[in-house]
Amino acid sequence: MVAIDTMMAARAQLTSAYLLHADEPALIETGPSNSLANVIEGLAQLGIGPDDLAHIVVTHIHLDHAGGVGRLSARFPKATVWVHDRGAPHLAHPAKLVASATRVYGEQRLHELFGPVDPVDPKRLRPVSEGDRIRLGDRTLDVMYTPGHASHHISLVDSETGALFTGDALGIHLPDVRVLRPATPPPDVDVELAVNSIERIRRRAGPVLMFSHFGPVDEVDELCTVAARRWKRWAGIVREAMDETDDVDRIGDILATQVSDEFEPVAGQGADTGRYEVFGSMRINAMGLVRYWNKRAEREQPAPTPASPGAPPHRTPEDRGGRSS
Ligand SMILES: [Zn+2]
Repeated sequence: MVAIDTMMAARAQLTSAYLLHADEPALIETGPSNSLANVIEGLAQLGIGPDDLAHIVVTHIHLDHAGGVGRLSARFPKATVWVHDRGAPHLAHPAKLVASATRVYGEQRLHELFGPVDPVDPKRLRPVSEGDRIRLGDRTLDVMYTPGHASHHISLVDSETGALFTGDALGIHLPDVRVLRPATPPPDVDVELAVNSIERIRRRAGPVLMFSHFGPVDEVDELCTVAARRWKRWAGIVREAMDETDDVDRIGDILATQVSDEFEPVAGQGADTGRYEVFGSMRINAMGLVRYWNKRAEREQPAPTPASPGAPPHRTPEDRGGRSS
């Protein structure tokens, strides 16, 4: 397999696509529309022309991973498009997905970062879930359902090498910085599910984890431990900050300050740590975790019964400064 640098946001080693050489060649992740020219060029250099690509698989539908899938699939008309079944309707009809991302990023930033989002022809979409197997001829990609970062997130295991494509399930790990950071954007981050997915990835992984952001990492056990610990730590910090303030900007600042020590051992050695902020600022991570805690509080609040007409009103995400995306 080969990583193709999408050069998203004109930055190297930020967002990758992967080509699996197989009887039926498969691309994992497309990157956004804005950087498709680099992906198409990368595929051409690897000998994959418009009629050669048989499969496109995306770990989830966030625009940095799959924003370009509609446009790319039009250029590679023989490719079947695989995505988790909860994500499939949004690839066929991206309006809601784009609206949700616009609420997170704002219109201008969304356009700069990702570009247009074209629909995928529904006839070419194949929804998958836990335990499904994508057959590529001489090898397969086994599908793990790994929610947490997103409710429709899958990870993929290459039958030939045991390499496990993690998408954003653990977080972001850039090869020159070598720091694992959770990615917790709205709208459907779930900390328990994420930690559970990370533990399942730990048990299932072969020798290497393939990060979408960015590249292979072979310290599988160590990284899963760090990822689970940081997910819980970040969630705890945001929970405490919410007792102090409803202002999500302020909560983002508190989170950024308190977790800045995670860069300590490596920072200041010339690596561009600002790349971690390109598609997921700490404000956006804070927004996702605030929304998670508010949803959890609503879930745990007992439904009012006729015997207790004076039950206090629910606090909605909007009350706490969250987003209703
Ligand atoms: Zn994502």
